[in-house]
Amino acid sequence: MTETDKYKSRMLAKKAVMDKKIADANEERGVLILLKGNGKGKSSSAFGTMARSVGHGKKCAVIQFIKGRSETGEYKFFKDHPMIDWHVMGHGFTWETQDKQQDIEAAQKAWSVAQQLLQDDSYDMLVFDEMSYMFKYGYLDVEPVVAALKSRPKFQNVIITGRTMSVPLQDIADTISVVQDERHAFRLGVKAQKGIEY
Ligand code: ATP
Ligand code: MG
Repeated sequence: MTETDKYKSRMLAKKAVMDKKIADANEERGVLILLKGNGKGKSSSAFGTMARSVGHGKKCAVIQFIKGRSETGEYKFFKDHPMIDWHVMGHGFTWETQDKQQDIEAAQKAWSVAQQLLQDDSYDMLVFDEMSYMFKYGYLDVEPVVAALKSRPKFQNVIITGRTMSVPLQDIADTISVVQDERHAFRLGVKAQKGIEY
């Protein structure tokens, strides 16, 4: 067999395996995606996926559970888009305020918005950015969130980001990606930059 023939038969075998995998994955439904880990790229991946959905004319909503910098590039880009609703948690939890009661109230307010979105089948994709901290700090109970996610509309996709994810959420997730921190420019002394960090 010549090199060309060998290459051809190897690729044919690969194609047969891939074709079978594609034929086996024939279910159509919304998925729950968790993006976790200490590396950079969780929120930007979520918003990138949302851009992909919007490109196909799908209706999306974002809830930012932690109010970081208010004027991020993604917020400026998406906020006026007719297919996107963008909610920033009220007097949201930030590292700046140390008022626990206020943080709990803000978390619950954001959750009540999330709950409504999870019952509304006009939304194709929901992004709950930094939601995982709500469970970590005890601002929200995870059980009602799991229940609402389980009973959401069949074709609705949900993306949740945050460094650590609670186990009950992981138990019901379809896709879990861990963004690993191998190196970060911040530790090399580079300050947070517009268009990269926010
Ligand atoms: P991004 O929004 O860039 O995708 P992220 O959502 O993965 O980041 P967060 O944990 O939400 O990361 O961090 C919020 C901010 O901190 C962002 O501005 C992000 O770029 C920056 N950041 C993320 N990971 C690191 C890290 N390992 N060291 C320093 N800064 C980080
Ligand atoms: Mg983030």
